[in-house]
Amino acid sequence: MNQIADLSAGLACPIPLSEYKNVLLAHGGGGKLTQTLIQKMFASRFDNQMLDILHDGAVFPGGSPRYAFSTDSYVIKPIFFPGGDIGELAVNGTVNDLAMCGAKPLYLSSAFIIEEGLPMDDLWKIVLSMKAAADRSGVSLVTGDTKVVDRGKGDGIFINTSGIGAVLPHAEIDPRNARRGDRIIVNGPIAVHGIAIMSVREGLEFDTEIRSDTAPLNGLVERILKAGKDVHVLRDPTRGGVASAVNEIAQSSGKGILLDEEALPIGEQVRGACEILGFDPLYVANEGKLLAFVAAGSAGRVLQEMRSHPLGKESVIIGEVVDDHPGIAVMKSRVGGTRVVDMLSGEQLPRIC
Ligand code: MG
Repeated sequence: MNQIADLSAGLACPIPLSEYKNVLLAHGGGGKLTQTLIQKMFASRFDNQMLDILHDGAVFPGGSPRYAFSTDSYVIKPIFFPGGDIGELAVNGTVNDLAMCGAKPLYLSSAFIIEEGLPMDDLWKIVLSMKAAADRSGVSLVTGDTKVVDRGKGDGIFINTSGIGAVLPHAEIDPRNARRGDRIIVNGPIAVHGIAIMSVREGLEFDTEIRSDTAPLNGLVERILKAGKDVHVLRDPTRGGVASAVNEIAQSSGKGILLDEEALPIGEQVRGACEILGFDPLYVANEGKLLAFVAAGSAGRVLQEMRSHPLGKESVIIGEVVDDHPGIAVMKSRVGGTRVVDMLSGEQLPRIC
């Protein structure tokens, strides 16, 4: 028996066969099943101080500046969509995870897994758009890898990007830091990316095309951190949407989250599409949005600064952090009642990023 087999002897798979014998699409959906997979399968074996925080990236301890490190893979279908493509998304996504750590993104790696038969011209379009996205956010792509897999085994192209950023001075952003009274600010209308992708897949047509909101948020984050020292948490509500993001923060911080339904910014066309497709916009993915948890005393100033940035013009406060119902997110509805906002369970939008 080799050493690895030795090590695994006696260690049963932490996800019982009786629960899930095989990986499901929903294990990649960003909701409950993803969380279970990450916590039981990966975090339980690789546990360490940096990973256990379950932040958007790891912040290295010690040294000045501190560095943030993050990675993400992109398997979106279709690879070209209204408002972007898999290349732009792959750059912006990792840039944003670094920004959510309060870091200025510096260097990216990119690994391409390409299916035999992908048109060379498509690959070139993706490369051009990655370069444009990198320039826009001020990062350099400094290392990479290319693999090609057999026809029929790769669905066009998959891209992994990893990135390193320098944590901005005084930034103490951590999902455990949410405090009672923090206001939760979002930088504009939610659910746009997910609906842009689903509209293409479902062949829905609108008066004006719904385009993905994919964008690099590092400039906006710099603006936010300059405006207020009391910024406690930043999170980009990607897969699983705002609902999953606030649940993650509630769990990490042990605080309660209270959202205000009336304050949630949702575009008219997106709302209509959600109704047609049967989606709750709170669970639909965003790729150019962030949630900022800011102490009440600084929230007004931060909001004002955000609104002066091109990617924050429509920023609004959508809720606050409370001591009640620790670890749970709740929404005050338009008619005055409240309901629990759970994590996404099951699969809503596979292959959305
Ligand atoms: Mg993220």
